Amino acid sequence: MERPDYVKVKLPTGDTFRNLNNLIRGNSLHTVCEEARCPNVSECWESGTATFMILGKNCSRGCRFCSVTHGNMEPLDPDEPNKVRDSVKSMGLKYAVITSVDRDDLPDQGSAHYAKTIMEVKSLGIKVEALIPDFRGERKLVKTVIDAQPDVLAHNIETVRRLTPVIRDARAGYDQSLSVLSYIKEENPYMITKSSIMLGHGETDDEVEQAMEDLRRNGVDILTIGQYLRPSKKQIEVKEYCSSERYKRLEVMGYKHGFRFVASGPLVRTSYRAFEAWAAQNIK
Ligand code: SF4
Ligand code: SF4
Repeated sequence: MERPDYVKVKLPTGDTFRNLNNLIRGNSLHTVCEEARCPNVSECWESGTATFMILGKNCSRGCRFCSVTHGNMEPLDPDEPNKVRDSVKSMGLKYAVITSVDRDDLPDQGSAHYAKTIMEVKSLGIKVEALIPDFRGERKLVKTVIDAQPDVLAHNIETVRRLTPVIRDARAGYDQSLSVLSYIKEENPYMITKSSIMLGHGETDDEVEQAMEDLRRNGVDILTIGQYLRPSKKQIEVKEYCSSERYKRLEVMGYKHGFRFVASGPLVRTSYRAFEAWAAQNIK
């Protein structure tokens, strides 16, 4: 299959990127942005946004699209919430996104540690978005994170219903993910919620539209849609590189379904234009 030009990512540029990159290298800080070689890193860092991964480097699950190491789970680092706070402070961010691996091996699946990290970063007086696992749908664990009061609470359905068992770990579930999103709104109707869909696994527009309806029915405010790019030959193959026209069409469709912010494009990731998406809510 021919790879489109957008796969050939430009190297990051800009003074802010260079300064932060030097800072990170000198202080052993880690962001998802540079570790995942995210194509948006110059733009995001220039605008004061970065993403941090917590709960360790290895995941208890093995989704077929994901390059995070599966298994060999290690104990949590009790100092991680402070380290993330200090990294956010050193980088001078105005919007921090905290995401994590899944920790099915821990009694609380890492939810208390997650909440502590959110609160530490919020103590800096900046906005915090949390992109959380499904916590296997256990409400009290999701509530632990809600109670830490992130400014945006995200959970990704990743794909359409039909393809969920094909690309996600068997412990994930389309309805389980929807129930997490629905519960957040039930618990706190003012909390801004967000979810993401990857294109490129063979989903049709009708299936994506159905996913949009499902997300809206469960109160989701913000939607991002991006292209799956295979990290290495170990992950599932790309079925389709979607055109810019398709991304535009789905963006329009998303607004038609009532999302308050939609980011749709080949290089869009969940945290892309995250500050702007938050600012567009006009809730707080
Ligand atoms: Fe970092 Fe997310 Fe922006 Fe990529 S889209 S650079 S991961 S904040
Ligand atoms: Fe990757 Fe998340 Fe799936 Fe773990 S749960 S394998 S981190 S996508």
